[in-house]
Amino acid sequence: MSSSSKASVQTYKNFINGQWVTAASGATFPVYDPSTEEVIAQVASASAPDVDQAVAAARAAFDSGPWPATTAQDRGKVLYKLAEKIRANTAHLADIECRNTGKPIVEAEYDIADAATCFEYYAGLANKVMGHVNPVPANALSFTLREPMGVAAQIIPWNYPLLMAAWKLAPAIAAGCTCILKPAEQTPLTAIQIANYFEEVGLPPGVVNILNGLGETAGAALVAHHGVDKVAFTGSAAVGKIIVKSAADTLKRVTLELGGKSPNIFFPDADWEAAVDGALFGVFINQGEVCSAGSRILVEKSIYSKFVEAMTEKTKRIKLGAPLERETKMGPLVSKEHYDRVSSYLEIGKKEAKVAIGGGRPKQFGKGYYVEPTIFYDVKNSDRIAREEIFGPVASVIPFDGESEAIRIANDTPYGLAAAVWTRDIYKAFRVVKSLRAGIVWVNHMQPTYVEAPWGGYKQSGFGRELGPWGLEEYLETKQVFVNLDETPIGWY
Ligand code: ADP
Repeated sequence: MSSSSKASVQTYKNFINGQWVTAASGATFPVYDPSTEEVIAQVASASAPDVDQAVAAARAAFDSGPWPATTAQDRGKVLYKLAEKIRANTAHLADIECRNTGKPIVEAEYDIADAATCFEYYAGLANKVMGHVNPVPANALSFTLREPMGVAAQIIPWNYPLLMAAWKLAPAIAAGCTCILKPAEQTPLTAIQIANYFEEVGLPPGVVNILNGLGETAGAALVAHHGVDKVAFTGSAAVGKIIVKSAADTLKRVTLELGGKSPNIFFPDADWEAAVDGALFGVFINQGEVCSAGSRILVEKSIYSKFVEAMTEKTKRIKLGAPLERETKMGPLVSKEHYDRVSSYLEIGKKEAKVAIGGGRPKQFGKGYYVEPTIFYDVKNSDRIAREEIFGPVASVIPFDGESEAIRIANDTPYGLAAAVWTRDIYKAFRVVKSLRAGIVWVNHMQPTYVEAPWGGYKQSGFGRELGPWGLEEYLETKQVFVNLDETPIGWY
């Protein structure tokens, strides 16, 4: 049993060593539906003793027990079964995700399907990890073993809760690591739900622990813990910097996927309809709560006014609504705290630039953390709304004059997660692609992300790569084995 009923709101426990356990302190934190502002669950709030317990479980499962002896083939089978189980429960999981994040149900269904695909992908990759034979100039055999890194603490954000859990857990399990996953405190419910499947799919106790708690307590204690070998984090750059500093004390391996202020660049020869759609999709999908959001829209001067007008007209059609309604294209932001933060940027934007559409709270909603899709134009790249990650449905449109200015403005940011360029001229497209400092560059599209291809940032958008074989690498150590074949003594002394 994962929960007990307290009035109409369920209280969920943490999943440690294959058991559902309350927090040592007995504390819980509330979880909300951001469209109704109501509490929908209470969740055990971990602190240092719970972190100790979870790390001890993951440590024991890594160092002994059945897991180290499990073959790569069998780890693949576990992942495959988990994928199947998630797929079979798509409707249920999407419903939970939708209620907890506020994202439209249709998008939640895509997320759950993508999470299942991620587990499936790493199911196939688990037994394709191979070492090398090294051509050393000696009468010897030198080869490499790829070994799991150990106990991984995985700290994830609230924008794609189950998908981010999949991006973290799947490669770690494939590699043979053990995990302590800490979901974001705003959105713990789908990760809790899948823990119910672990025993059935064949994950031994302690291999994956789901530890819920606040970032500054549970998250920070995990990062500092001596029993943890690796930290994988997705979240804000500010917390990423705290994590690097804390992890330095024990020299943990760290991978970070942080924020962005990604440029979406439009040249006059782009397909007009596709470009206007792409500008909106790039910044408004998932309420703009996307680390790769194309939140700086760079438009060449000759089409600038017409482009802002076209974006504005199409934005009027975006249907804000209840997350569970299938026609809804934009739901509320995830939390009151985030709503206040995004709203404060709307006020900053009104002082720095001009408003084409939006700029406040939509009138039709009495409650819920809704924000209007907002387009600011005549934005300067030095403005705060062009430099700071807002993580909401807020576009900053910036005019440019020619290719080199577009590149200069695009790269003038501390971030480097993503970028996109729209043109029919392949010479120009590839020149721009090569000049952009970002971990992913789309041409004539923005946002599609597939598990087969790498994901991660340049500059202050983080380090390390997720997805594909790159994601698995981040959970592997390389051991060189040197076998002397020469029986004569060294003869040095
Ligand atoms: P956001 O600002 O978008 O909420 P955060 O970077 O604060 O993003 O949160 C992402 C994740 O990092 C969450 O799981 C959160 O609990 C966790 N977190 C926040 N602060 C810390 C911290 N000091 N140490 C470790 N984890 C943290």
